[in-house]
Amino acid sequence: MIWRISTPITGQQSADSSTLTSTSSDLGETMSTFDINQISDEAIRTDFRHLERRANLIAKSLVEGYGPGRKPIEFRFINESEFNAYARFDTANDQHLVEINAAVPLFTMILFYRLLSDNRVLHYLDPAGAVASDFDLPFVIDHENFERRVDWKIEANSIRAFAAGTIADICNTFVILHEFAHVICGHVDAMQYYEGKAKVAEFASRRKQPKADKDRRLAWEAEADMIAAGFLVQYIGDLVEVTKTDLRAKQVFGHVQGYEWEHTLAIVVASLFGFFCYVEGTRRALHQHGDHPHPQVRSLAIKDFLLQAAEQRVAIDGEPFSIALDARLSEMMDVSYELGLFDPKQFTTAYSDGIDSQLEALRSLVEEFQDSCFGCRWFDTA
Ligand SMILES: [Zn+2]
Repeated sequence: MIWRISTPITGQQSADSSTLTSTSSDLGETMSTFDINQISDEAIRTDFRHLERRANLIAKSLVEGYGPGRKPIEFRFINESEFNAYARFDTANDQHLVEINAAVPLFTMILFYRLLSDNRVLHYLDPAGAVASDFDLPFVIDHENFERRVDWKIEANSIRAFAAGTIADICNTFVILHEFAHVICGHVDAMQYYEGKAKVAEFASRRKQPKADKDRRLAWEAEADMIAAGFLVQYIGDLVEVTKTDLRAKQVFGHVQGYEWEHTLAIVVASLFGFFCYVEGTRRALHQHGDHPHPQVRSLAIKDFLLQAAEQRVAIDGEPFSIALDARLSEMMDVSYELGLFDPKQFTTAYSDGIDSQLEALRSLVEEFQDSCFGCRWFDTA
């Protein structure tokens, strides 16, 4: 692994560049840079700065490690009315650009604060003690009408608030890594050839597309997840390491029998599942098209990618991992369902029974399209 990422636990402050207010124009699109200073809440502002700093470090490391002679990658949060993330080539500035709508990390933070306000999620965390985070937040449930919101009661003690912030950070880091993966896998540049526009958007209004395009996009999304999961394991390793010295990290991610890796991987997979359910609900409500598999298939595919990457570093014990994963997924589904975050019609038994074959079909698709990016890829395909 060629880069190190900071954990959110160290509390490092970034020298942020969030005061940028420039706009960039490419392919007729103009989106303004989100100004982190607009955020009134100090804790959330700090989380945004950590994410921005980490994204800038990842961009630098990827270009140094994989891209000598390649165009640089810039990162920014943007102001836009859509819940979306993009990787594109910015011809005006001759660089790759990863852009994430500021609503994405913000909603993710609120989502996990709400989930962790329910004591069934990570039930082993003591719910007692003084409430550290106690506020009502309007949260967008009806995405067809952003004005229609529900008030979510956020009530978490210190350890639960810490877990919520750290898990949101993991999911937001995954989103950033996924967008960077679209660049280094060559998807962004290859899009110029396939569809005439060097841009990958997570959601898009799209008319019916040819099956070949649909399959290729699905394969690329899975591939970006695979690369992102490989890098995320670095982050998970940092978290496991921190459990040895940080009491709060030990309480959330530590394990009495020494199964820290298994336990932490299970939390990450279940959290990504909850996050994908929310994102999928958003996409459907906005009547947008996406190229990702069903949240259950997507999170299980990522589970396999994470396990493969983790096993290159440490031996993972399958049994404690499976037990922990079942427990975490089950509590995540119960609470997400009660909060109305996913449609149970999407999670039928018949559907669950077909998941293995869907996973297998996804693997074949990734293999089929692995040479689809010609010389655009920043690394050799093994
Ligand atoms: Zn993507």
